[in-house]
Formats: sequence, C-alpha cells, structure tokens
Amino acid sequence: MAITESPAAAVKTPAPAAEPTPMVTIRGVSKAYGPNVVLRDIDLTVNKSEVVCLIGPSGSGKSTLLRCINFLEVYDRGEIRIEGQLVGYSDTTPRRRLSNAELRGLRRNVGMVFQQFNLWPHMTALENVAEALVQVRGMDKGAAADRARQMLARVGLADKADSYPSRLSGGQQQRVAIARVIAMEPHLMLFDEPTSALDPELVGEVLQVMRDLAADGMTMVVVTHEMGFAANVADRVAFLDRGRIAAFGPPREVFHESPDPRLTQFLQTYH
Ligand code: ADP
Ligand code: MG
Repeated sequence: MAITESPAAAVKTPAPAAEPTPMVTIRGVSKAYGPNVVLRDIDLTVNKSEVVCLIGPSGSGKSTLLRCINFLEVYDRGEIRIEGQLVGYSDTTPRRRLSNAELRGLRRNVGMVFQQFNLWPHMTALENVAEALVQVRGMDKGAAADRARQMLARVGLADKADSYPSRLSGGQQQRVAIARVIAMEPHLMLFDEPTSALDPELVGEVLQVMRDLAADGMTMVVVTHEMGFAANVADRVAFLDRGRIAAFGPPREVFHESPDPRLTQFLQTYH
C-alpha cells in the first residue's frame, strides 16, 4: 500500500512574516515619590529579541523605569506586562500584590545588570556564577560548575574561573556579573549603566559582550550613556526627559531627525 503524504505536508506554504512578539508592554505608567513625579504616562513596548536603549539626563527616571519593570518598585498608574503577565499593581489594574510564587516566577525570567557589579568577594568567578544555580535553581554543584564554566567562556573569561574578584579588572568583574545573569537563562535582560563605573579603556570589552548577547537574540533594555552603542546596537532608542519619553524610534531617527530641543542639548553633552 502506497504511503501518501497529507496535502498539508505536501504543499509547502511560505512562512508568514513573523509578527513581533511583545516581551515587555508598558502602558500609561506613572510614578511619583511624594510630590516628585518621576514617570509620566510612559508607553513602551519591547519586542522579543529587540534591544531598546534608554537615554536621558540624570534624574530623568531611567533607573526608576527599569526598577518598575523588574518589580523592585511599585508604580502608581498604568500597567506593565512581561510576556503578557501583569507585573506589580497600580490604581488602574486590580490592586493586588503578586504572591511570592508569582514574583519568583516572573523574576526567574528577568535578569538585571547594575553599574556596580556586586560580586561576592569571597567567591571565585566560577563560584559567583554557580552560586545562584545551586541556591535558586537547585542544580547540584557539579552541574552548576559546568554551566558556570560555559557562561564564563561565553563572556571571554574561561581562564579566570578560579580568580577572586579582587584580582579582576572592573571590566572582567562586570563580565562575570553578566555571566551570572545569563546562566539563569533570562528571557529579558535589564542593564542599568553597566559601563558607567568602568575606566574608559575597559568599557569596550563589556559592550562587546552585550553586542554578542544582542546578536544571539537576547531581549535587552539598556540604560546607557554610550551613544555609539545605542546608535549601533539598539533597534530603538527612547529619550527620557523629566519622566516622559520625549523621543522614541530607530537610532537614526532619534539621533538625527528628532526636533526635540532638549534631546539636541543632551546629545551635545554626550557626543
Ligand atoms: P535616572 O536613573 O534617570 O538618573 P532615577 O530614576 O534614578 O533617574 O531618578 C528619577 C527621580 O526620582 C530623581 O529625581 C530622583 O531623585 C528620584 N528618586 C529616585 N529614587 C528615589 C527614591 N527611592 N525615593 C525618592 N526619590 C527617588
Ligand atoms: Mg539611573
């Protein structure tokens, strides 16, 4: 008896153009510290595998926005969703705190890299990366060490596995911190001025690791003053000014075509 293919298998239809999948959806988010309004009606969507850079003057609300996305801050109005799931709470969404289990579930998928690397000084690079795999993921020590070694190799530090942070340069320490985050396989990575604490000659190696991550399809929101990185790596750039997104779009548009006078002034300071 002849084996016939089903018509569906036999006729190969071209794949439809991939619709962007939202990873982070921010709608109408506002936040104040007392009388100080720091986020004003923020709308921002970050799609899967997209790199969005947040730029703007000091105090414009960049860190607060990242902290809201990462559930380290409560916002007052609007909503933030990660992969469709509501993060935190506000007046316009059911005022309900997430359960600890829900928070853990969300945090599992979001990694954050800070200006200060916050490595454990008494642990080697390898132990710094392996620790969370054991503590949070419940991996056994051998498997965690293997995975940590792979992650260190990915950030170009295979040969530093047994070094303590005090023996590493700032750039190397930040790469260990990044390895520690990517070991957890986040769906989304948030970076808050990851190179601002570094000597200028060490900035490039960290940006290169971030570039590699972006090329591998990591979804990233990056607060940075590195305009070259934003221009070359970001899919879209958001300029925050006094808590508002004053310009948003592909880097070419934001850097060269935006009429916003405060953006022009800001770019003159950072170029
Ligand atoms: P950026 O990261 O763009 O420099 P931030 O988000 O850190 O800006 O700060 C935005 C504003 O919010 C600033 O006016 C800052 O002083 C204020 N702010 C930030 N964190 C707090 C806090 N925990 N309590 C009170 N005010 C804060
Ligand atoms: Mg900040």
